[in-house]
Amino acid sequence: EHFSQFNFRPIMTDVIHKLEFKKPTAIQEQVIPAVLEGTSVIGQSQTGSGKTHAYLLPLLNRLDPEKREVQLVITAPTRELATQIYDEVRTIIDYAGKKGTWFAKLLVGGMDKQKMMEKLKEPPHIVVGTPGRMLDLVKEQSLSIYIASAFVIDEADLMLELGFIQDVDQLLVRAKQDIQLLAFSATIPQQLEHFYRKYLENPLHVKV
Ligand code: AMP
Repeated sequence: EHFSQFNFRPIMTDVIHKLEFKKPTAIQEQVIPAVLEGTSVIGQSQTGSGKTHAYLLPLLNRLDPEKREVQLVITAPTRELATQIYDEVRTIIDYAGKKGTWFAKLLVGGMDKQKMMEKLKEPPHIVVGTPGRMLDLVKEQSLSIYIASAFVIDEADLMLELGFIQDVDQLLVRAKQDIQLLAFSATIPQQLEHFYRKYLENPLHVKV
């Protein structure tokens, strides 16, 4: 019932301490060890459950700051949600201090694309954004995601509802075939189930 039960690196243990998280939430109990092991996860939970840190903490734990390439891709259906996730990422990076010199970029529609392309010339370790804008950047070869070892789909049900699942699909086509996929949503409609089956072989199902 403590974060110490997980195999986090000291740097992440320090971050968790600074976040003042006393113990893992129900979803974190189940998702963190799986993500640390490289397992793909389908998580069914509501906002407020602590799902964001259930994937951020174990995924950032393994990022290699020495490798300047996109190692982690996080997608969300709206600018607001992407921005919220990005802010959480920035907090973790700040708390990690000098040893956690990871770079993150927020890639959402409505932001100046030319500027974004310029900034991507030096690849960040983490990209957080909406799938449409990310796909644009990938197609224009400003963003390369084929090295990434993990891909997150946050609020996947809303992604489907808003018609963005095709863009997510197009992004995944351009990612590594055995990429670790983490998908979270409150509900799993049949179409989403179908989509998951295309990309996930033996995912862990977590419902809290
Ligand atoms: P989420 O469900 O990801 O939107 O998270 C809801 C809120 O819970 C966020 O403000 C997190 O910072 C916070 N939170 C996440 N995990 C924990 C934890 N283990 N202990 C205390 N607060 C947490």
